[in-house]
Amino acid sequence: MSARGPIVVANWKMHLMLGEARALAQAVRDGCQGLGVVRVVLCPPFTALVAVAEVLDGSGILLGAQDCHWAGQGAYTGAVSPPQVADAGARVVILGHSERRLLFGETDETVGRKVAAALAATLVPLVCVGETAAERAAGRTHAVVERQVRAAFRDRSPEEIGRAWLAYEPVWAIGSSQAATPAQAAEVHAHVRTLVGELASATAAARCPILYGGSVKADLAPALFAEPDVDGGLVGGASLQASEFVSIVRAGPTAKGRAGVPSR
Ligand code: PEP
Repeated sequence: MSARGPIVVANWKMHLMLGEARALAQAVRDGCQGLGVVRVVLCPPFTALVAVAEVLDGSGILLGAQDCHWAGQGAYTGAVSPPQVADAGARVVILGHSERRLLFGETDETVGRKVAAALAATLVPLVCVGETAAERAAGRTHAVVERQVRAAFRDRSPEEIGRAWLAYEPVWAIGSSQAATPAQAAEVHAHVRTLVGELASATAAARCPILYGGSVKADLAPALFAEPDVDGGLVGGASLQASEFVSIVRAGPTAKGRAGVPSR
């Protein structure tokens, strides 16, 4: 049995007031009871981290943040540090999401700095990589993804890389209702896993969870998750409906076991 996956991560983006966040977390908690083999992570907005942590307490469902800064503290108005998100109860932090890269000027370099800071705060960095439609059309998918992975793990030790998770999220598939096919996802995931082996070790590559993200829905999840190198999903829009999200969690292939998360 593999040491990785299945993992299903909910990215709630900039949605939900506190009451709504609590209610959705409670519905997911109820719906996921008995599904212990699947590692579930909910990533609410910063404002709802503590409230959702309270709802998830004792459930086994993990809390994640959607971003963090690279500094531990300081004069960075509007930013939130890795120790602060950890203090709020988060164990995982999404980094390098394409919306951060495209809308907020996130660069490969800043993603790398954030990965280092998250690891130092004993958070699991969930590093997102993926190509645009134009890059895919130009045959540059592997080159783009490789550049992003190398930058995210620049100067990181094999041990540190071994604590990270990755998500392949083709930009053209996010929020588009046009998910990658299982074959497209499998091909890029295999390439990313080989790269992790080069950058860290064969053991790290074999253990590294690589999630697929981009218009994952309950009807598509079983075929995507059945691919050997697809260790679960990062789910945006469909994670805002408890029943749809729980159905995606249920698609997690039980044969893949449970991913490791560092104890804190
Ligand atoms: C995401 O934003 O990470 C994502 C995968 O979104 P969606 O599922 O809505 O495509």
